[in-house]
Amino acid sequence: MAKFHPTPGLDRMVAMMVAPHVHEVAREVERAAKRFAPPTKKWITVADDRVRPTHAAAHGQERPDNLRFEINSMDWDRKHRGVGPLTYMKQPRDESSRAVANIKNCRCSVHTIPDGISRNIRTLPPVITGSTVTAKVVASGKFVVEAEVGTVYPGNLEAVGAFYMARAAAAVAARR
Ligand SMILES: [Zn+2]
Repeated sequence: MAKFHPTPGLDRMVAMMVAPHVHEVAREVERAAKRFAPPTKKWITVADDRVRPTHAAAHGQERPDNLRFEINSMDWDRKHRGVGPLTYMKQPRDESSRAVANIKNCRCSVHTIPDGISRNIRTLPPVITGSTVTAKVVASGKFVVEAEVGTVYPGNLEAVGAFYMARAAAAVAARR
């Protein structure tokens, strides 16, 4: 019976042959994650001298679409509505925030940024360690984790996660 003696370094050679394929799978996950990623939204005031200070301070605040804006509370809402120092709104005039004073006569609007989260997603080059090939798809930036898994704000206001990375991995796994 002949014995098989692998070429020294064969493992590494195979790993280098496999690496482009692993990279391509990771790129597929990246493309799917970018499709599933939520947009972001920006709080925009009309920027005149009648904008209340709590909204002027929020001008330009950007959050993933599935999360809430963090707006400084107004004293009346703190006294009568039981909100804390911050009021958490999905959009201007959001009654689910429990605010009354802080939404009355509000003229603010939201600007949507479709690639707000997806622009933070990328694939790193594959790394070969011995006979193992590893490729990573990463999302880095503000609020990418909260956008993925969601969060719970004070007052038990829940923001459901978008799970764009988890859904992307599952979608690619199902295709292969
Ligand atoms: Zn406003």
